[in-house]
Amino acid sequence: MPELPEVETVTRLIRPSVAGRTITGTYVGWLRTLGGSTKPAFRRAVSGCCIATVRRRAKHILFDLERDGKAAGALAVHLRMTGRLYVERRGDTPAAHVRVALDLDDGKSLQFHDVRKFGRCVFVKDPDAFLAHLGPEPLESGFTTQVLWNALRVRRRQLKPLLLDQDFLAGLGNIYVDEALHAARLHPERRANTLRKPDAARLHTAIQRILRAAIERQGASFDTFYRTPEGQPGDYQHEFQVYSKTGQPCPRCGATIRRWVVGQRGTHACLRCQRPPRPPAG
Ligand SMILES: [Zn+2]
Repeated sequence: MPELPEVETVTRLIRPSVAGRTITGTYVGWLRTLGGSTKPAFRRAVSGCCIATVRRRAKHILFDLERDGKAAGALAVHLRMTGRLYVERRGDTPAAHVRVALDLDDGKSLQFHDVRKFGRCVFVKDPDAFLAHLGPEPLESGFTTQVLWNALRVRRRQLKPLLLDQDFLAGLGNIYVDEALHAARLHPERRANTLRKPDAARLHTAIQRILRAAIERQGASFDTFYRTPEGQPGDYQHEFQVYSKTGQPCPRCGATIRRWVVGQRGTHACLRCQRPPRPPAG
């Protein structure tokens, strides 16, 4: 599933083609993609609007809309498993698997393609309220080691499910949590409130370093349908240290990388670098 680096890449690449354009028409091929709206209500909400800005928040791509120069809500796109966004010349019939398409005033069309149909393209009246539950953005200047440390020390959850929780920290998913915990030498089942401040500092550094490197490589295209809007795969899968490396040697210490399930998610770790929180029974 696309995570912060992949969604950031899509946002950056799609922005120049759509920012400032006016939506002149809509096509809806799969109603559920609209997240509860009807086709006529969706058309009324977005048709005639100008796409003022394109931005990412957590794993959402937000298209802020304006009508007659005034804020008029936003389109919130979530790619989920197989969603793709791209802009192309408007044809007569959208391609198979295009669930929503927006006609633009330059003769092109913003298309949301989604084989497995879990993705969403939802009109929201109040984007701030829609996003209010989300945790901090890990690459923004306000997200300091101290902020992470303060948040960790008052929580008893295991690190893996806690870091996946978008209300705790925005944008991380299964790949980047496994990679960050390995880089920080922290076991995925460690309770957040057992960390010491240096542990939190290593985790903070690892999260930021890995996310920045992955954005640089336009994300990872390992076991997903992820492609950039230009149709290219990302490159970051070649940098994985533990994710999808079950049975292979840890690049840092040579011990065998294990996979097991934590909080219902497949989890990869090196148990020599990431020591378990409790000694095994017996
Ligand atoms: Zn290791």
